[in-house]
Parts: sequence; C-alpha cells; structure tokens
Amino acid sequence: MTNEEYKLYIDDVVRRVEYARLQVSGHHIVKTIAVSKYSTSKEIKALYTIGQRAFGENKVQDLKEKAKELEDLPLEWHFIGNLQKNKINNLLDIHPTLFHALDSIALAQELQKKLLAKGMTLNCLLQINAAKEESKHGFMPEEAIEKYLQIAKECPNIILKGVMSIGAHSDEREVVKKSFETTHEIYQQLPNATICSMGMSGDFELAIECGSNMIRLGSILFNK
Ligand SMILES: *Cc1c(COP(=O)(O)O)cnc(C)c1O
Repeated sequence: MTNEEYKLYIDDVVRRVEYARLQVSGHHIVKTIAVSKYSTSKEIKALYTIGQRAFGENKVQDLKEKAKELEDLPLEWHFIGNLQKNKINNLLDIHPTLFHALDSIALAQELQKKLLAKGMTLNCLLQINAAKEESKHGFMPEEAIEKYLQIAKECPNIILKGVMSIGAHSDEREVVKKSFETTHEIYQQLPNATICSMGMSGDFELAIECGSNMIRLGSILFNK
C-alpha cells in the first residue's frame, strides 16, 4: 500500500467508527487506541502522520522500546496487557496515560505500594471477565463493583477511571453482545467512571452499540 492508499484505508475505518457512534448518539464520543503490538515503530509513525495519537501495547518490554524509539513524537501510551508484579516499576517509568488491565486486588496493592514510593499516580481501568472465561483475566461481573470500590478506597494512588473488557470468544453475535452489555451495566453503576474500554478489530461496532467509548484496534488499523 502507498501512503495515499493507506490514508484512504484508514479513512474508511474512521468512517465505520463514526457511523457506529452516531447510531448511539451525536453526543457519544468514542476514542480509538491503536494497538501496535504486531507493528514496528515505522508503522506507528505512519499512523501518527495520518493523525493517530493514542497507542497501546500489551508487553511492558515492547512498550518501553517503542516509547523510547518514538520519544520525539507527542504520543499517548496505553498499557492493555496483563501486568506481572515484577514489571510494575518498568511500566511506571514510562508514565503511561492509562493502564487498562487491573485484574486483581493483589496487583492493586502492589501497584499502590510502588506508586506511593515513587510519589506517582496511575490512571487505571478495572478489567472484567464478563463472559467468565477460563482463558481470560479480570474480575467476575458479580464482584466487580465491590472490588472497584475497595480499590478506590484502599489505593489512593490508583486513579480508577472505569472498566475494560474483551468481548466473549464466540462466533455468536448474541453471546458477544451479552458480554459487552454485562460490562456496560457494571460501568454505569460505578461512581465517577468515565471510560468503558471494549471492542477490538472484529467487534468494535457491536461494542460501541453496547455503550463502549474507548475501542482498542490492532489488526484493522495496521492492516495485518
Ligand atoms: C491485541 C489486543 C487488542 C487488539 O486486537 P485486534 O483484534 O488486533 O484489534 C485489543 N485489546 C487487547 C487487550 C489486546 O491484547
């Protein structure tokens, strides 16, 4: 693809997001995070040139390398992957804009300790395992609100902004939809929550229909 062709291709994805959000309401704003985990710094730069500013990675090491290579660009970095306790300091050194995958009380407590020691705060989303899948991380739907409130109370350096979920792994639209609705219902009950991060390349339109206001697009944006 030439640069011009790539721009037209991206315009088409942007139009799809725009169409989906307008089905909800003209006031419903959806932010797109470009997930660059399969992509090189050069490819990130190409997307930046077209206007994308927010990028996401799911491995701390990859985030560190790409953030360093691209430090001259005014990018916003999101960490969307599972965070191991021994990688917390590495992640904090990058000062990410948002951590999407806070998935246990133990991780929250460890994060709180490290944040306090560094005199930092971190914007986080509580990850919800909406379809209760063994293969996925996150809090079960029935405990999510209680745990959210517990973290908000006990971890003052963690700034909770809302929730994140990965759509159910299913070919059935209704099953995926149900998982997004479960997450959105929890989101609506949380005090001061402003971010509902759900929807990926294969299901972002459905996620937006169910109330998502932050989508994480990888393969479709990088044309993989
Ligand atoms: C990889 C990944 C994405 C993007 O997936 P695509 O299907 O390529 O759009 C979104 N969210 C998380 C948590 C991911 O790991």
